Amino acid sequence: MLEIKGLKVDLEEEEKSILKGVDLTVEAGKVHAIMGPNGSGKSTLSYVLSGKDGYEVTGGGATLEGADVLEMEPEERAAAGLFLAFQYPVEIPGVGNMTFLRTALNAQRKARGEEEMSATDFLKMVREKAKTLKIDADMLKRPVNVGFSGGEKKRNEILQMAVLEPKMCILDETDSGLDVDAMKLVAQGVNALRDQGRGFLVITHYQRLLDHIKPDVVHIMADGRIVKTGGPDLALEVENNGYADILAEVA
Ligand code: ADP
Ligand code: MG
Ligand code: MG
Repeated sequence: MLEIKGLKVDLEEEEKSILKGVDLTVEAGKVHAIMGPNGSGKSTLSYVLSGKDGYEVTGGGATLEGADVLEMEPEERAAAGLFLAFQYPVEIPGVGNMTFLRTALNAQRKARGEEEMSATDFLKMVREKAKTLKIDADMLKRPVNVGFSGGEKKRNEILQMAVLEPKMCILDETDSGLDVDAMKLVAQGVNALRDQGRGFLVITHYQRLLDHIKPDVVHIMADGRIVKTGGPDLALEVENNGYADILAEVA
């Protein structure tokens, strides 16, 4: 589904290398997790995949179902089925949440040559999905993320994901700032979307989210590289011993 090969990324503003050769393949139907100390490049990886400005790719690449992701405009990436939930979801004053969701879904459909969803069908679909995420009608009408609590923003992102039904979902620190109940809701939302045709990359600093979203594969990122890959046990090892042992082992 997603294949990242030898990806090297520098900051555009200053001469600084952030990703130093990342290799990672996420198969359809699998959940991969990336853990790693602060500053190791996890968010940079998700930003580069989303097409955010400010980064220069100096080597390697990334493909989604064989198509070159880094060559696509951000909206083309979304139409191709890539979805990213960020550590800090953006607020969009003046744009109602429901309007935003419908516009995003229809833009994606249009790019794929599909028909728009009718207003009635859309409303019904969103209300159902919002209910399972405990997002109330008021939050659907309010401007996107404006004045939402941390937990509401994260749940709202999972709602976006549920509505857009992407092929490849990348979640960056979707657990940060969440209380246990909100984290469970987020995890439930993700688990509900797990399916044979969809890949997930879950980036998290702590292991606790992975108690609820059971990953198939766990990677440790340090200093711009994936330094270790294993099963769910690897996340528990980090939880118990921190990163020091693993970093010493691979040094
Ligand atoms: P992580 O998500 O693993 O905590 P990041 O990808 O956020 O790591 O950051 C990786 C490194 O890149 C850090 O050292 C960070 O300070 C640096 N970095 C990322 N973006 C910028 C930027 N725009 N300006 C300066 N440094 C940056
Ligand atoms: Mg960080
Ligand atoms: Mg980060």
